[in-house]
Amino acid sequence: MSRVLNAFDALVRRGVGRNTLRVPARGLETHDGDGALRKCVKDSAETVVIGGGCVGVSLAYHLAKAGQKDVVLLEKSELTAGSTWHAAGLTTYYHPGINLKKIHYYSIKLFEQLEAETGQAVGFHQPGSIRIASTPVRVDELKYQMTRTHWHPTPQFLIEPEKIQQLFPLLNMNKVLAGLYNPGDGHIDPYSLTMSLAAGARMYGAQIYPHTPVTGLTHTADGRWDVHTPQGTIRANRIVNATGFWARELGQMIGFQHPTVPVHHQYVVTATVPEVKALGTELPVIRDLEGSYYLRQERDGLLFGPYESEEKMVLQDSWIRDGVPPGFGKELFESDLDRIMDHVEMAMEMVPVLKNADIINIVSGPITYTPDLLPMIGPHQGAHNYWTAIGFGYGIIHSGGVGKFLSDWIMSGEPPYDLIECDPNRYGNWTTVPYTCAKARESYGFNNVVGFPKEERFAGRPTSRVSGVFELLKDKCSMGFHAGWEQPHYFHKPGDDIGYKPSFRRTNWFGPVGRECKLVMEGVGVIDLSPFGKFMVKGDDSHRLLDRLFANTLPKVGQTNISHMLTPRGRVYAEVTVTQITPGEFLLITGSGSELHDLRWIEREVYDGDYRVSVCNVTDEIGVLGVAGPKSRAVLQKLSDEDMSDAGFRFLQCRSLQLAGVPVRAIRISYTGELGWELYMDMRNMRSVYQALMEAGQNEDIDDFGTYAMNSLRLEKGFRAWGAEMNCDTNPFEAGLDYFIKLNKPADFVGKQALLEIKAQGLRRRLAFLTLNTDDIDPEGNETVWHNGQVVGNTTSGSYSFTAHQSLAFAYLPLHLIVEGQQLEVELLGQRYPATVAKEPLVLTEPSRTRQQRKSQT
Ligand SMILES: Cc1cc2nc3c(=O)[nH]c(=O)nc-3n(C[C@H](O)[C@H](O)[C@H](O)COP(=O)(O)OP(=O)(O)OC[C@H]3O[C@@H](n4cnc5c(N)ncnc54)[C@H](O)[C@@H]3O)c2cc1C
Repeated sequence: MSRVLNAFDALVRRGVGRNTLRVPARGLETHDGDGALRKCVKDSAETVVIGGGCVGVSLAYHLAKAGQKDVVLLEKSELTAGSTWHAAGLTTYYHPGINLKKIHYYSIKLFEQLEAETGQAVGFHQPGSIRIASTPVRVDELKYQMTRTHWHPTPQFLIEPEKIQQLFPLLNMNKVLAGLYNPGDGHIDPYSLTMSLAAGARMYGAQIYPHTPVTGLTHTADGRWDVHTPQGTIRANRIVNATGFWARELGQMIGFQHPTVPVHHQYVVTATVPEVKALGTELPVIRDLEGSYYLRQERDGLLFGPYESEEKMVLQDSWIRDGVPPGFGKELFESDLDRIMDHVEMAMEMVPVLKNADIINIVSGPITYTPDLLPMIGPHQGAHNYWTAIGFGYGIIHSGGVGKFLSDWIMSGEPPYDLIECDPNRYGNWTTVPYTCAKARESYGFNNVVGFPKEERFAGRPTSRVSGVFELLKDKCSMGFHAGWEQPHYFHKPGDDIGYKPSFRRTNWFGPVGRECKLVMEGVGVIDLSPFGKFMVKGDDSHRLLDRLFANTLPKVGQTNISHMLTPRGRVYAEVTVTQITPGEFLLITGSGSELHDLRWIEREVYDGDYRVSVCNVTDEIGVLGVAGPKSRAVLQKLSDEDMSDAGFRFLQCRSLQLAGVPVRAIRISYTGELGWELYMDMRNMRSVYQALMEAGQNEDIDDFGTYAMNSLRLEKGFRAWGAEMNCDTNPFEAGLDYFIKLNKPADFVGKQALLEIKAQGLRRRLAFLTLNTDDIDPEGNETVWHNGQVVGNTTSGSYSFTAHQSLAFAYLPLHLIVEGQQLEVELLGQRYPATVAKEPLVLTEPSRTRQQRKSQT
């Protein structure tokens, strides 16, 4: 260690590292050279990409390659002059999420062939990478990740210490238990990559203007944009914000406060290490998860990059407060070795040759963080034809895949596949600057924490977005975070083992959830459903608009139904509960995670079709309580003069009631599948309605339940969940939503033509219902399904059913395997558990049970 410090001290004495560096450009953008300063930009463009980092240039390349004419990229200084030029350039197939694996996969495949395509080298090294587990829970995490990777093309292996030592002979193996090995991983030169993409973009016809800052944006009356620069104004059909850590500044030009903040990230480069040089082959990249750092070979030396804890990491506060200094270009931050010494020590223990290595460079640069460290990719709700490609913590590896993803979306009008976790509209007004900073700290510090299923993170909570019963519930439950809201996961009782205790196996919530499922199946429970997204749609054209948007027929006045918005290719864009309140006035209810995602789709259609309607987002004003269970009717009847009997208040009916003197809109529906109502009311009245319900239900032993119980109850009833069983990767027929799709309705709804074609061609896979024999573990979704040693599909969600006393899962499987009784295996934590294709549902819903009872009585 002293050698490292000495080396660092020497650097400090030479004035390197402690001060803001102005580093010479690695190469000037030569295409237009200085001439671009004098050259006027063109008048119009189909797409103007703003920002010439790896992400923006990749998008320009992909759009031009896809055949879009008039693609323009504007860069305020030189290409790469943001975060890109100094990135460590690590590339990996690995991502813990499901969808982003596709982005990584595409990027690597692109990087492999880019030089051949553009003639420009990219400096791509693929020595492989190993994620190192040195605790038993890490080994579980690696197994959990293998289960979620087997059904992807990503090459990934769980390897033993002997193999790790063979691949990385300089490792101290004392603590190493296992590794996750991705042979195609490595690193790329980010500058060369961007230049190669730029060469490709120009080759396919895009125009790149360096030294052309965007200084203003004006939305035109016809929904296009005037993009102002000192070199002239461009009229663009769409603009894409790809400005890296200037994303907030650009967004502010049009009134957005994007939740992105700059954080400091450092890496250290050593001089030649003789032992490294002597190896003759390039070492794989290692990620020491307990030490929270990456380490790779750089020429004959090593490059080491740590992620400090949330307390130690540094946000660039002055930029957050005052904005990024306008002149900031290819500069770096002051480096600070002291801050990363804990990681240095751990790295020296793991890779002992580091102890004698001399540091030749320390890079400390700005990375853009969003609250959850995922980028914001796609069209932004609230401004037509404004797209974002911002918030990249790992923009080098994301650049290729994101460029292709966005280009496909722009060209075809719909996302090529599900990437909901990166939708820019997952954020909203509740993502304030303090919230974003708290979360960015947490996300940075948690870069290498164990990624458990059902993970909760607590920084920045609660936000300003709380339901009317939050104060009443917060101390008696474990809250989950949903789009800014706190929503109970499950409730505690005296004697329960409480607190957040995540695990890859069943944990302390298992018992309480079972108790709540029993409550709803046998008695009556209350759940806070306020996080639902809620829109009121009315106006002369409301029927015509919704008939075009939804594949189901519209409900009659006073009725509710489940409807789906489809994409032109016939994929499930959204699932919405639709109620016609008065003639032409509709209440639309969607999930908490899809509020602005759905609103964007509706607004787009309103705009394109010039419908005379008003669409009002009432999510924050309306609170919702769900009351469910066989005794729910008796409880509600005590509080209302209305007839709550089965004949008086039918399933899927909506009525306005006075409940304990409070005006409430009640819909007889429950995602639990049991007898139940959803009660919509002014958020300010929730407290008194909740208290009235609890009081009225004392004799019925009324109690609270949370979303974990609801998930188990909906699964055993065979109810699909949007985002799991259905999304932009699935059509409604394979998801088993046929009942809700009305191909015969006269309206030409979005996706109808595609569905007719899908129907004519027939399906290749379908959603199946599985029962599993497990021990102390239940499926979550995204696990691999095996048959005769072959991967045949993947689960989409899963849970334990406390009614059926076994684990359940939905899974996509080839048709020939969807036969009742078919034996399969579902992989959980590295073990394959027996699974059986079952007839769904495992538990009949209350309306079906009531119908059956009536039939048997007649
Ligand atoms: C030290 C360090 C190491 C890293 N290592 C890795 C790694 O190993 N792997 C990895 O995947 N990622 C890594 N990253 C992250 C990666 O560098 C970024 O995520 C990525 O470069 C972001 O690219 P971008 O195109 O979004 O933004 P940027 O590269 O920041 O580009 C934005 C561009 O927009 C331009 N611009 C801004 N405002 C305007 C305007 N008004 N008009 C015109 N142009 C404008 C800027 O000049 C800039 O060129 C690292 C980052 C740092 C700091």
